[in-house]
Amino acid sequence: MNLDKQIWPGYIPPENDELFSSWFIRLCNEHKIKSHSFSKIYFNNAPIWNRDVDLYCPELIKEKIKAYTFLSNTQIESLFLDSYQDLLFNENKDKLFTVNSLGILHRKRKLNGLRYCPGCIDGEKIYFRKNWRLSTSLVCNTCNLMLLDNCPTCKSPICFHRLETGYKSSLLEYPLNICWVCKNNLYIDPSKVPATDLLKQYQTYIDNTLINGYNDKTQYSFQYFYILISLQKKIISKSSGWSRIKNASRIEYESILCQVDFNSKDLSLLRNSLLVSYLILQKSPKNFKTFCSNYNLRYSDFTKDLHKVPFWFINFFRDSF
Ligand SMILES: [Zn+2]
Ligand SMILES: [Zn+2]
Repeated sequence: MNLDKQIWPGYIPPENDELFSSWFIRLCNEHKIKSHSFSKIYFNNAPIWNRDVDLYCPELIKEKIKAYTFLSNTQIESLFLDSYQDLLFNENKDKLFTVNSLGILHRKRKLNGLRYCPGCIDGEKIYFRKNWRLSTSLVCNTCNLMLLDNCPTCKSPICFHRLETGYKSSLLEYPLNICWVCKNNLYIDPSKVPATDLLKQYQTYIDNTLINGYNDKTQYSFQYFYILISLQKKIISKSSGWSRIKNASRIEYESILCQVDFNSKDLSLLRNSLLVSYLILQKSPKNFKTFCSNYNLRYSDFTKDLHKVPFWFINFFRDSF
């Protein structure tokens, strides 16, 4: 550790699993300057909010964090979504397959790419977790609540950096758990969003897969996520090319999908279709075989759009027949 380092005067350490953007805005607040000024002084004026800085961070920012804090390289890397490389995704093009897009337009966010737990956001330390950007994150297993992806009052996307807008001289006028549009609290009564046992079981499996880097299906977790999400996309696809899988899922899992609006793109559709995708892959080879033969599903129904099929899924299919 270099004790001659000039540490940022208002330095605060990132919280456990905190997203860089969340830590950054809290850091600016501690320094009593706006994020724009902070970047000007310490990041060579690197643009922050007109890009997905958590997913695509310039090296310069990481170097400056290294220079002005006591954080190790590993701690710095773990602030960013690239730390899921080889766990959640492998190839670059699969990042946007597994990490929710924010729909960035200048400083605006058009899409609900950042989720949050209403329980965690009501705690003593208010910050945004890295795993709330993942398309596979549906539940907070600490609070046993379903994650939300927009303001419960006005339905705007979560966009905490815009809480600064309009206040020239200072800082955030509000804590991070306030909606930047309507200024209502993002918190809602937990009794309105309880996680079902099935969703908790799903999330435990997903979290363990990410932590371990493997699961009972494959020794490469990213190959599991690749199949999981590609199957989910087929279930919600509007294309008639996937009608056999869509129909099979809707009949087999009617109790989960009956209340879902397939014409919307809301979180309920994403949540329930991902759960169904998970349940299909959790079937034993015998049950999977019955499922496929009941609905006349073939190997190509699952794989015809995939540029390469992971070996575990080839085996999974082969073992079922
Ligand atoms: Zn929580
Ligand atoms: Zn709002």
